[in-house]
Amino acid sequence: TLSDKLESVFKKLRGQGVMTEDNVKEALREVRLALLEADVNFKVVKDFIERVREKAVGTLVLQSLSPGQQVVKIVHDELVALMGGGEDNSLDLAAKPPVSIMMVGLQGAGKTTSCGKLAKLLKSQRRKPLLVPADIYRPAAIEQLKILGRQLSIEVFDSQADQKPVDICSKALKYAQLSGFDTVIFDTAGRHQIDDYLMDELVQIREAAEPREILFVADAMTGQEAVNVAAGFDERLGITGVVLTKLDGDAKGGAALSIKAVTGKPVKFVGLGEKLDALEVFHADRLVSRILGMGDVLTLIEKAQSTFDTKEAERLQKKLKKSNFDLDDFKAQLQQLKKMGSLESIMGMIPGMGKMMKQMQGAQPSEKELKRIEAIIDSMTRQERANHQMINGSRRLRIAKGSGTSVQEVNQLLKRFTEAQKVVKQLQKLGPKGLMKGMGKGM
Ligand code: GDP
Ligand code: MG
Repeated sequence: TLSDKLESVFKKLRGQGVMTEDNVKEALREVRLALLEADVNFKVVKDFIERVREKAVGTLVLQSLSPGQQVVKIVHDELVALMGGGEDNSLDLAAKPPVSIMMVGLQGAGKTTSCGKLAKLLKSQRRKPLLVPADIYRPAAIEQLKILGRQLSIEVFDSQADQKPVDICSKALKYAQLSGFDTVIFDTAGRHQIDDYLMDELVQIREAAEPREILFVADAMTGQEAVNVAAGFDERLGITGVVLTKLDGDAKGGAALSIKAVTGKPVKFVGLGEKLDALEVFHADRLVSRILGMGDVLTLIEKAQSTFDTKEAERLQKKLKKSNFDLDDFKAQLQQLKKMGSLESIMGMIPGMGKMMKQMQGAQPSEKELKRIEAIIDSMTRQERANHQMINGSRRLRIAKGSGTSVQEVNQLLKRFTEAQKVVKQLQKLGPKGLMKGMGKGM
């Protein structure tokens, strides 16, 4: 699988901290191949890879994840975003009934079957659909839809093959209005390829049917070609969404990705078989996982990310922005670091921190030291913690006594704190984005 391949690409990188231009490049070569194998259009792949490269370079390498897994995660998230994950891709039927839905696409794509499936789905949602056969060319196409309607107990308009498709559709719409149907699904004719005659007819039907949705039905097996066809239909008709059929086969579904990328129109449904219940609402993340062929990688990644207490990170982040990092924050940060692992490994994750780490070598507190530091800070007053400069000689003595330490130890701590403040200044220069990226958020 892709994750395995990336794994080996990244083996050398383990423990190196931040992803670089070079190692990301190698990984993205694998991603590129995987996408092309999944029939994603090459131009779409090119743009996509460029975007991921920008995201990945400079990203930290989370301790608990391999770099390969992290690239997979970035690729996955970007693909889901590209596929419209998180957007509302549901059918838009919010109009005065009867609402029209028009199915278009090449011959054999699965329009007629999808009409039946969609009608069944809508019926289960308590709508009252009317099916309208408007393909007068393909022999028995009208009969095919009538048979489906009978199986589903859904009425099919009595189209006649000797009528013009546009006339059939106008009549059917009037009939639906008079007979109390709230949804009308128009099944149109297809061709083996786009031609002007077909397009003119579809444009006429669109005018007669006033569809709220024009769904382009695409066969997932068509591969690279699908995107040009979709673009052609979209140009002439202005499609509103895509039904991707035959995903139950070997096709990986890369076509869907290309169609969405090129036309901007979302996939709304996927067909997963010849049976009438084999239609599902589209889930971007499922398709992307299918394309990338990944198993549990995502769960693993989520787990790793939650190790870092994001709430605490956000709090620190806010503090950093206000540029008043004080001893309370210092303590909170030390505790956070304790949770995450050694200081060194954490700092190594933050872009640009490598050099600073060298300066700070040996600044890493042990468990015992950490306890002492906490005791010292706890012995300070609130004002002292907020403003360390007021901690003079007599205060230091009092704090040492209170925490069961020595004045030297209090001095040491204050020195370490001032060093940390310097680091924080550097982090501030990175800006909030860089910082959160460094802390493993939002990747
Ligand atoms: P149309 O020419 O676009 O109307 O296509 P049809 O609806 O007649 O479908 C063409 C063929 O594809 C038929 O044999 C269907 O059973 C089959 N088909 C349609 N959708 C799917 C699907 O999601 N999965 C599978 N395996 N076959 C499908
Ligand atoms: Mg048909």
